[in-house]
Amino acid sequence: MTGLKLLVVDDETDFAAFVAEVATDMDFKVQSTDNPKEFTLLYTADINIIVLDLFMPGIDGIELLPFLNKNKSRASIIFMSGKDQYVLQAARKLALEQGMTVLGILQKPFRADELENILNKYVPQSVPQSDNQNDQPSLDELRQAVGRQEMRLVYQPQINMANNKVMGFEALLRWHHPTKGEIPPNYFIPLAEKNGLISDLSDYVAKTAIQQLGTWTDHGYDFRISINFSPKILDDLDMPEKLAQCARDLNADISKIMIEVTETALMSDVAQYMDILARMRMKGFRLAIDDFGTGFSSLQQLVRAPFSELKIDQVFVRRMDTDKDCRTIVEISILLAHKMGMNVIAEGIENEAVWNILRDLGCDEGQGYWMSKPLSAEEIPLWLTKWSVE
Ligand code: C2E
Ligand code: MG
Ligand code: MG
Repeated sequence: MTGLKLLVVDDETDFAAFVAEVATDMDFKVQSTDNPKEFTLLYTADINIIVLDLFMPGIDGIELLPFLNKNKSRASIIFMSGKDQYVLQAARKLALEQGMTVLGILQKPFRADELENILNKYVPQSVPQSDNQNDQPSLDELRQAVGRQEMRLVYQPQINMANNKVMGFEALLRWHHPTKGEIPPNYFIPLAEKNGLISDLSDYVAKTAIQQLGTWTDHGYDFRISINFSPKILDDLDMPEKLAQCARDLNADISKIMIEVTETALMSDVAQYMDILARMRMKGFRLAIDDFGTGFSSLQQLVRAPFSELKIDQVFVRRMDTDKDCRTIVEISILLAHKMGMNVIAEGIENEAVWNILRDLGCDEGQGYWMSKPLSAEEIPLWLTKWSVE
């Protein structure tokens, strides 16, 4: 096991220390924390095994799964819990459904040899080549990427499902590294968040996207622009005003700007976050709860923050034509959003069957590869002509 990395998260310090000791004896490189809020800070893409306690104060192990999923984590997971086997089996099932590898489950208290047996099952080859340290961009490279014009935005259409009208586009960040090629946002955004670079990146995204909105308006297009904001930058009470000023400077209509936000579960100051979201709405921005249904974007958040739209996570949308449970979740999300006076956008529509079901369920807008992958600004006029003749 030499050199393999293991991260253990358990609020019970003794258990975290016990797991760390057993794994260290097996030559794992171990990191351990008894504070679940530190999880996202300690997490890196090259971690091989995560040993996760299911019940921790303020957060449960399951709530960390969407984070791993978003980061396309290749780590194998071991769940542990003092509760019964049923809970552990349910957690295992949930993780497997999200495409994660579960190495085993451990009911507390357990013996060292039980943990060793599970750790011995780990197959090192399952770590992909691209997780090789040399393939990963450095922090300095990320810091310089904007200045070197390696970053750009692409735009994915959001379409009214009742009349096929293009309502707007979601701006999505792309990083083209000179030697390593395209680096996915799910990799570099967490890296930027962890290292204090996210606010520079967000400035670039907001400015570029709002400028693009201005260009569309100048060309007679009545589109909206959606911008993704990391919760990490929503800690500055002046942010809504700064953003509004940016829109005024660029002559853009604030009501055409939609801010998409997710996860607050791991945030320290939820009240301030809600305050900032409310200020955004008061300034006239639209506000979307992104990735609805995936743990972090919760019902509690839905009632507390003044969202104008709800985006259903693609995990459910993609499979709703074949999976009854996914379809039910989508159905309920649409009903819920409408009851609360919100517009619903489904993302991850990959085929016509899904489009048809969503339209029949009364979903307001759709976004997905079936209509269009994210496009460069230059590609949009041609795509629009094709879309309108179909
Ligand atoms: P998101 O905001 O939920 O964006 C939707 C993601 O789903 C995009 O991935 C999009 O390309 C992808 N997608 C859209 N339709 C389909 C489909 O039919 N099938 C499949 N399989 N995927 C589809 P992308 O561009 O890789 O972005 C991933 C995530 O990275 C975004 O998820 C967002 O959370 C984050 N992100 C992207 N750009 C930014 C940004 O400028 N700032 C921040 N803070 N986060 C960003
Ligand atoms: Mg989004
Ligand atoms: Mg989303």
